[in-house]
Amino acid sequence: MAEETKMCGKCHKVLPVSEFYSNKSKPDGLSGYCKECMKEANHRYKLEKKNKSLVVSLLEKSAEKEKETAKFEAKEVHTTKALSYASLN
Ligand SMILES: [Zn+2]
Repeated sequence: MAEETKMCGKCHKVLPVSEFYSNKSKPDGLSGYCKECMKEANHRYKLEKKNKSLVVSLLEKSAEKEKETAKFEAKEVHTTKALSYASLN
């Protein structure tokens, strides 16, 4: 029996269905992206989340004794982000 294949919606490679995670919310029961693309997407998502929680924890820290340092760091993170955003556009 030939293995079923599916095209990845991201890298457009035709891969065996075993290269796709199952996703019950999809009509074919498979994720639209291959495992590799999902890995990359997850990695980026986690990185973004990590950055966000870092800022949050810095802000939380500002309630503690290292108030001024945390505030300064959080501000710096924000400025760096704004700068890289500006240079992208
Ligand atoms: Zn892919």
